[in-house]
Amino acid sequence: QRFPVVIVGAGPAGLTVGNILRAASVDCLVLETETRQFIEQRPRAGVLEEGAVRGLQRRGLADNLLARALRHTECEFRFAGERYRLEYARMTGVHHWVYPQQLLVTDLVREYADVRGGAVRFGVRDVELHDLDTDQPSVSYICPETGRREVVHCDFVAGCDGARGATRGALPADRAHVSRSDYGIGWLALLAEAPPSSDCVLFGMHPRGFAGHMPRSAEVTRYYLECPPGDDPENWSEDRVWTELQQRLGANGAPPLTEGRLIEKRVLDMHNYVVEPMVFGRLFLAGDAAHLTAPIAAKGMNLALHDAFLLGDGLVAHLTKGDDTGLDGYSTACLNRAWDYQEFSLWLSEVYHGQSSGDPYRAGTTLARLRRLFDSPTAAMAFADQYLGRHPEG
Ligand code: FAD
Repeated sequence: QRFPVVIVGAGPAGLTVGNILRAASVDCLVLETETRQFIEQRPRAGVLEEGAVRGLQRRGLADNLLARALRHTECEFRFAGERYRLEYARMTGVHHWVYPQQLLVTDLVREYADVRGGAVRFGVRDVELHDLDTDQPSVSYICPETGRREVVHCDFVAGCDGARGATRGALPADRAHVSRSDYGIGWLALLAEAPPSSDCVLFGMHPRGFAGHMPRSAEVTRYYLECPPGDDPENWSEDRVWTELQQRLGANGAPPLTEGRLIEKRVLDMHNYVVEPMVFGRLFLAGDAAHLTAPIAAKGMNLALHDAFLLGDGLVAHLTKGDDTGLDGYSTACLNRAWDYQEFSLWLSEVYHGQSSGDPYRAGTTLARLRRLFDSPTAAMAFADQYLGRHPEG
């Protein structure tokens, strides 16, 4: 079997690359370990930058999103018992879109497989990459139906298999450098069957720990609670969760949160990594496979989409016109953006977690940072600039 491009992973990055290739009539194969039903229901991110949405729209991938996504124009910081609104859209003319990741993945897989006729194998096991530093690479996997190893020959491999995938491991240690940072903090990620308790994202900075409120739809709200890294979600009963959320997000004049059944409860250890370069021979990494940003600043899905636009366009230019400019500049362009977002996440993490660090000096400097956001229009603009994503779409 032979395809010009094999894409490993059917997340936002892989499916976007696949759609761009199919729109240019380039054949490709997507390999995914999970089932289609599973990826269409896996809830994760929800906040999209305008630039990412414009990038999808330009490639015919945003019709459902634009019909259904919510427009967010403000966020609210709660600290020292008070509420502070930051009206970022009024300040900048730019807003966020909120569209649950599983809906975007559903749109992308339908468009790729059912409309653009892209090939995809779900439920594959044990994906391995071969001969990446030659011009005849191949990918092999265990076929779920036969249990036999199948080999697919190709010109390029797109490694879009996320933080726990196989493709990053195919980079030889002496040809790629992985920089890591660990915040030493856990977040209990929650989904509640409860309507949002505010019309915007809420950030609660509290001596007991950070808490976040992120509306996802009229019926479902994502919440986060800072917790020890590696904590067991079973330590968090519904009662304990809601008591902590009410306390950490409580503020003068704020109505209590609307409570509901918890439908997801898992602990995320807050860590980041960046792989440099994102290319080895015929393998191009994209999205979380290449760089992970803890969900502190809601950047992961946006970065994955930006990478995918550049990679999809670069592959199309090479395969249809022999133009290598896009592929040659791919890694540097993606890494510049990834590092910019890493730095913002680091800055924001201190804002979120300084109050609960147990260190009065850090608590003091964090409060100063927060006050500055509301005392200084320049500081507020600088925050909005990074929060909304100041890079043009790919
Ligand atoms: P993924 O979405 O991880 O897709 C990779 C795919 O590859 C998956 O379908 C996986 O099953 C498959 N796969 C894995 N291993 C293999 C293999 N060996 N072979 C074949 N297939 C494989 N980002 C934001 O921008 N905003 C947010 O608000 C936000 N909130 C988040 C909340 C949570 C709880 C989490 C966990 C993440 C959040 N993120 C957020 C991050 C965002 O979800 C990711 O950055 C995004 O999914 C990355 O897309 P991707 O396509 O690179 O990888």
